[in-house]
Amino acid sequence: MKEELNLLKKGKAKLQELQYLIEMEEWIAQEYEANYERLRLEGGHALSPEVKRQGLLQIIMYFRKMREVAETVTETEVKLTLPEQSSPKGNRFTIEGVVDIIREKDSTTMYDVKTHDADYVKANKEDYIDQLNVYTHIWQNLRNEKLSGTAIIATQFPKSLKRAIDSDEEEKLQRELEKWDPVIPIPFSQEKVEDTITKFACVVDKIEGRDFQPPSVEQLQNRIKGTRQRFANRVCRNCDARFSCDAFRIYAQKSSSFSGGFAEYICDLGNTDEVENFTNTNAFETPPPLDINDLI
Ligand code: SF4
Repeated sequence: MKEELNLLKKGKAKLQELQYLIEMEEWIAQEYEANYERLRLEGGHALSPEVKRQGLLQIIMYFRKMREVAETVTETEVKLTLPEQSSPKGNRFTIEGVVDIIREKDSTTMYDVKTHDADYVKANKEDYIDQLNVYTHIWQNLRNEKLSGTAIIATQFPKSLKRAIDSDEEEKLQRELEKWDPVIPIPFSQEKVEDTITKFACVVDKIEGRDFQPPSVEQLQNRIKGTRQRFANRVCRNCDARFSCDAFRIYAQKSSSFSGGFAEYICDLGNTDEVENFTNTNAFETPPPLDINDLI
């Protein structure tokens, strides 16, 4: 009898857990939709149905994998501000960042959520160390609170997890979810903070001085650490300035697939997926005008 009672209790707990997960995922989907609509109206940018679906999937998988972190987070979207900075050329600027904070009994951890993939973050840790060190500096000095650690949460799925999601096989998905490790601890040191702030200051001076010199063509040809992609493919093909950028023009004309001609160069609208998404976005999200005056 006791054994049956225990089994019943376990079954009930499992059911409650399942119901909690279903309700939570429904809530995430509703909030995602509301947030998307707000951003769409504010910014005037829409996503194609597929990209929108992928975005929601990323949040749901993040919740499944990082449930402990998501449930124990004590402050989300904490805005950190370092105001009144001055550059070598006398330009005034402010550094701002947004992070999540988890406070436990004896520790406080700062998380920065990025939509990058974990391998890329691991291979380019230096870039993230600089940024998180400045946030740590703001947290510890301006807010006067100690930190025990910092980490990046990289939400982009690894390829194997993406395949498991597409396959729709629950066991495979569980296996890949277990293997997935999106949290990358970032060592923090306060020694180089001043150098990092000076690096930011130099960028401010370049922007204010209208110094927008692109990198060299060689740099566009280099592969980015942690990926097999060249700078030109990963960065330039998403850059709105590429058709007026000398470095990209020379790179494109040197590439083996380029057969010559201005039309071919200007018709490169990015990779096939992006072009398809762009077309779908406009087809699905923009209602046709009902009145000819709307077009004028
Ligand atoms: S295309 Fe854009 S990202 Fe690439 S080098 Fe030129 S300005 Fe920079």
